[in-house]
Amino acid sequence: MKTIGLIGGMSWESSLEYYRIINKTVKEKLGELHSCKCIMYSVDFAEIERLQHEGEWDQLTVQLIDIAGKLENAGAEILVICTNTMHKMADEIQQNIEIPVLHIVDATAEEIKKKKLRSVGLLGTRFTMEQDFYKGRLKEKHGIDVIVPDEREREIVHTIIYNELISGIIKDDSRKVFQNVIGNLKRQGAGGVILGCTEIPLLIKEEDSDIPLFDTTTLHARKAVELALSQ
Ligand code: GLU
Repeated sequence: MKTIGLIGGMSWESSLEYYRIINKTVKEKLGELHSCKCIMYSVDFAEIERLQHEGEWDQLTVQLIDIAGKLENAGAEILVICTNTMHKMADEIQQNIEIPVLHIVDATAEEIKKKKLRSVGLLGTRFTMEQDFYKGRLKEKHGIDVIVPDEREREIVHTIIYNELISGIIKDDSRKVFQNVIGNLKRQGAGGVILGCTEIPLLIKEEDSDIPLFDTTTLHARKAVELALSQ
């Protein structure tokens, strides 16, 4: 089994999910007493969030490259960045380490293609919904078209992520808001919706939607185990 290096703390609420899912998956595949070989570097999210909202992406890139290097030196053999948003600098991170970065978009696209969907909705932070690093990779590398909510809904989704989900606050009202947004994406032609923020699956589950939801936390974590167990 290869050792998985995880860049966590963005937020720790979802890093807990990664830790739980990778261990559960290893146990499922190898049996009772098995668990995942992994190393997590967990950041102070308050510092990260401030730099994100100030647009200091270069500084964040330097920080994440540094952390990735530490995990590689500590013995990680695969790198998992436990957040969608911070895949903005995934290519720069990959250029600075030898071990492979398992891109969250690729893990998610694999599942979308299994369901034979060509057009999906995307929910996530404003950075993920509005910038090209995520939608662009889905389109160019995987041929998947992406529909995002309108400006007003993007603002609402972003605010719920940062003000509630990252602090572990789960509200029925916010679930209803997300269900409405998903309904609007469906009306615009989305055959499914990517939960493209690792905390969204804490709020909304498959049974809350009448179209398929792609839980990026689970898909990413399970793919990491598949790679860790492959020869
Ligand atoms: N976990 C979130 C994501 O998947 C948001 C936190 C962050 O900005 O990294 O995008």
